[in-house]
Amino acid sequence: MTYDHAPLFARAAELGSRHRATVGDRPVQAPFDSTQLVAVFAGPLADSGIPPEAVLEELAAAAAPGLMGTVGPRYFGFVIGGSSPASAAADILAIGWDQCAYSEALSPAAAAAERAAGQWAKELMGLPPNASVGFVTGAQGANTVGLAIGRRHVLEATGWSVDVDGLVGSPGVRVVASEERHATIDRALKLLGLGTGAVVPVPASGQGAIDVSALAAILDEHPETPTIVCLQAGNVNTGAVDDFATAIPMAQAAGAWVHVDGAFGLWAGASPSTRHLMTGVHLADSWGVDAHKWLNVPYDCGLAICRHPVEHAASVSYSAAYLTGSGAADDFVLGDLTPESSRRARGFAVWAALRELGREGVADLVDQSCAQARRFAEGLATGGARIHNDVVLNQVLIDLEGVDTDALVAAVQAEGTCWVGATTWHGQRLMRISVSNATTTDEDVDRSVAAILHAAASLT
Ligand SMILES: *Cc1c(COP(=O)(O)O)cnc(C)c1O
Repeated sequence: MTYDHAPLFARAAELGSRHRATVGDRPVQAPFDSTQLVAVFAGPLADSGIPPEAVLEELAAAAAPGLMGTVGPRYFGFVIGGSSPASAAADILAIGWDQCAYSEALSPAAAAAERAAGQWAKELMGLPPNASVGFVTGAQGANTVGLAIGRRHVLEATGWSVDVDGLVGSPGVRVVASEERHATIDRALKLLGLGTGAVVPVPASGQGAIDVSALAAILDEHPETPTIVCLQAGNVNTGAVDDFATAIPMAQAAGAWVHVDGAFGLWAGASPSTRHLMTGVHLADSWGVDAHKWLNVPYDCGLAICRHPVEHAASVSYSAAYLTGSGAADDFVLGDLTPESSRRARGFAVWAALRELGREGVADLVDQSCAQARRFAEGLATGGARIHNDVVLNQVLIDLEGVDTDALVAAVQAEGTCWVGATTWHGQRLMRISVSNATTTDEDVDRSVAAILHAAASLT
């Protein structure tokens, strides 16, 4: 007798949608007792199981006090993004179908959806239509893949096969990257065996974009060293975007592989009002971008994109399929382009998000977030805050004179109207506000501005 999933799945969907329906009315971070929360989940593993309906109710009740309102309209910490109705529903369906997105043979539908979604995503971001796309867990995974391909490429140019011989005894590789690179670059270098010591840091200009003349000087220093240049579309603190039109041709002329970490920023290429910031980005060799941040797809989902499909597959695939065929991205199965072998069919949710929004919807989403970031800056400045960055995208850095930033951030989080985090940038402790949720309204921004200023007033 087969189990009828319908009532159970319907209940799970009901609980999930109830969370979303009320998330905007509850404190973004409700007060909770962490000892209690841990105790409810912990305890000895039972000898016998319980029915799935009971598991679901138990889980929902146990988790409720510790759920953060990250999917809601006033969560402005990190760069979290929301998750759109269609993409969330598509992910639920992906779980129902439980497809393994390794290849056409394992799931023709998952493969077709991913190929289409990857194609659309590249088009929106202005990236080469023939680039290969691997659906990974996020920008961490995507940056790791991009740097792995770069590592292989620059060593291959010296006659060293990293695929066969690894790194022991290989020529040294340097990774020229901004002093304001994202921490995931350093983790990728640890995982790839290059080590964080491979980084040659490039000074950033006042707003956190790479200083291109400093980059030029570094590239000139050891022209014979195998070099990867890692650029950034969207500094996580300021939103600043590197000068791709200058930096990429310069780096490539020096023989370097160019990777762009565009976790959230690359989507700015989808809007006519911010597209100019991305000029030249299509010239890079590889790109990492998240779907789960600004595109508002559920966690976890990112895209590892590469101009050179054969090198992409050669770097991360275990199959020999890449040795045959024309070298087009479609010659490779999905699993040739990701470090994972078996995995969830992430492409359905991306396909659904892009179908739901269309070209104009993605542009509107980008424009809305950027406009709301400017609204934050204006509202807070009017209330006496100092704005530390040019608000070019969706990130805002502020502090208030005479107010301890960490105390302010803690007070705002505890009050619950909104959630913001603190960061250290150019030696200063600042509040970082990131707008990346499609459900955020101007009124949410105004309420949050008022809550922040009120918290600040209570501390002085
Ligand atoms: C968020 C972010 C990352 C890491 O992305 P994950 O989705 O957490 O893996 C990398 N780079 C930048 C600029 C980011 O904003």
